[in-house]
Amino acid sequence: MNLADPVESLKGIGPKTAETLKKAGIKTVRDFFYNLPRDYENYQAATTITEMRPGKVVVKGKIEKLTSRRARNRNLSIIEGLIRDDTGTVKVVWFNQSYRMRQFAPEKEYVFAGTYELKNGRFQLTSPSSALYTDIDPRSGLTPIYVAHGGVKSNDFKRLINGSRDKFAEIPDLLPFVARGTRKESLFRVHFPTSERGVATAREYLAYEELFELILASKLNRRENEKLKATPVKFVATKIRKMVSGLPFKLTNAQRRAAWEIFQDMEKNRPMNRLLQGDVGSGKTMVAALAAYEAVSNGLQVAILAPTAILALQHYESIGPLLGALGVKTALLTGATKQKPALKKQILSGEVNVVIGTHALLTDDTEFTNLGLVIIDEQHRFGVEQRQKLALKSPSGLAPHLLAMTATPIPRSLQLTIFGDLDVSVLDEMPKGRQPIETKILPEIEISDRLYPEITKTIRAGQQVYWICKAIEDGSFGEGKADITSVKSRCKKLQNEFPRLKIEFLHGKMKPAEKDAVMERFSEGKIDILVSTTVVEVGVDVPNASLMVIENAEGYGLAQLHQLRGRVGRGSVKSYCFLLTSGDAKPSRRLYELEKSTDGFHLAEVDLKLRGPGEIYGALQHGALDLRIASLSDTKLIARARADADKFLQLGENMLKYEELMAGISKYQQIITLN
Ligand code: ADP
Ligand code: MG
Repeated sequence: MNLADPVESLKGIGPKTAETLKKAGIKTVRDFFYNLPRDYENYQAATTITEMRPGKVVVKGKIEKLTSRRARNRNLSIIEGLIRDDTGTVKVVWFNQSYRMRQFAPEKEYVFAGTYELKNGRFQLTSPSSALYTDIDPRSGLTPIYVAHGGVKSNDFKRLINGSRDKFAEIPDLLPFVARGTRKESLFRVHFPTSERGVATAREYLAYEELFELILASKLNRRENEKLKATPVKFVATKIRKMVSGLPFKLTNAQRRAAWEIFQDMEKNRPMNRLLQGDVGSGKTMVAALAAYEAVSNGLQVAILAPTAILALQHYESIGPLLGALGVKTALLTGATKQKPALKKQILSGEVNVVIGTHALLTDDTEFTNLGLVIIDEQHRFGVEQRQKLALKSPSGLAPHLLAMTATPIPRSLQLTIFGDLDVSVLDEMPKGRQPIETKILPEIEISDRLYPEITKTIRAGQQVYWICKAIEDGSFGEGKADITSVKSRCKKLQNEFPRLKIEFLHGKMKPAEKDAVMERFSEGKIDILVSTTVVEVGVDVPNASLMVIENAEGYGLAQLHQLRGRVGRGSVKSYCFLLTSGDAKPSRRLYELEKSTDGFHLAEVDLKLRGPGEIYGALQHGALDLRIASLSDTKLIARARADADKFLQLGENMLKYEELMAGISKYQQIITLN
């Protein structure tokens, strides 16, 4: 067994399953073993059916008489049946979990954990989780829960990992020295838990390994960078002054400082490798435009990359005229661009100075004559390969300067330890005249009474509204409970409620050209309410939008809610954000924190605390940092990993012998790794 082998080389994984897994990013044997449980279910202390008391219970038995029906007038399916053990039977009910109909073999024993309660005059077990009795560790009562990927549900993954149980012994160890644990043992422990403590220790080891890789990669990148040459960019004081004096506003001090740091970096004959970090709305685009103008004034070309076509278009529309007035030729190049060949010729000839685009710019055959600066917005959304391709587009052999921009707040202490290879500029000051966004949690049932009047008021004042939904079509549900209102059905409801308003929807499955057209109409003020999925999350700038509604707000992480909310409050009028909650559960702490604060740094810290190490398992996205296991609050672990990375670096050339480790860190490589 080789960890780099395709996932279908494992026993029991056929082509169809492999395809589903691959779509979810599980491509290799390594990915398969590292697909860690999201959480664990504890089935310890099962009682018999006659012993059950109202409240949380765990019970063991067989399933009988399972039926499925639809609730009247509601998009809800109800599954009912009986659980039987030696002492009796109990009714069991699930909502919107149709797979339950196929889950149970009548002769097999299962354990169920759920709420035993009185409903309609009869006791029942409501929406219990379940597991095959033989899947549960008899000592701890623990069984893992995996994130479902398409047709591969948690239980399927359990079956697959069980089938590869004997393969764990073949997993090679990663580190050349003894740490507190080993990889094979730790991976085995998280998939086959025998105690909560054991799981915690194993996860800590895996987190350590992840941090070690990340920090090592960062240090190696820095070394590589120091070997590279770039074209020095001279500071063109008069030109920059002219640009700044033509702006409709004064730069913030933070913007000045960041621009200055960038200019100083670019003056060197080594490539800049700088991260510009600033909360949503802090004015990063302006700083990017200054850097671009400086490079162009030195005869260099600039590529600006955005994560989506909509954003590329927006950058083009804001930066284009600004630089155009100064004689700079800017072009937009996305998948939807017509007359690409002609444009590409102009890029190759150097006629076009600044190219703004998406991934398309990297994957196709666009060539530059002297690409001197690459600006990446929300850099973590770009894969390593794409970054490398871009670096290759510098025919002089000189590496381009790199400016990456992100709204993800990264605490200072971590900037040094983890982003050792990046220099960081921070925009810690908002442009003047902004009013903080007022945020309110609102139960869905109060939409008509409290939200509709706000919408009417907003539109009357000539402003616009974003309404964010989680799903595109009906029929998707949150965590097996409430149904989620989709973009399409919400759009219809609003059209009925406000027949005179222009209401349109936007989602990720629309064609790029369609999406751009909708976004453009919204930018131009031709749409009053835009009902959208999170495709508007990153960077979209429509200052006239002053009301945002986030439906099913519980379904998003704190950072994402903050990002979404940042789409309003970009102009001078006061903006509002409503967080809609459904069901009758008390809103989570996350939502209350969002109500209280608009400071991204503060919220990031709260987020770390709320999640806490071990609280949430699985793929945590720390924005620019895609840490899957480790938490940024593990400062001790980070310090240890850092010291060990330094030790390892002393091996010099001998490092290359650790092939598995080198393969692991390649995913963290930065753009400029050319020689
Ligand atoms: P982000 O950092 O989220 O990318 P943007 O660059 O999109 O923020 O800027 C948000 C808005 O603030 C834009 O409309 C931009 O024109 C405006 N803006 C940028 N800098 C300033 C400033 N110094 N004063 C006033 N408005 C500014
Ligand atoms: Mg932006």
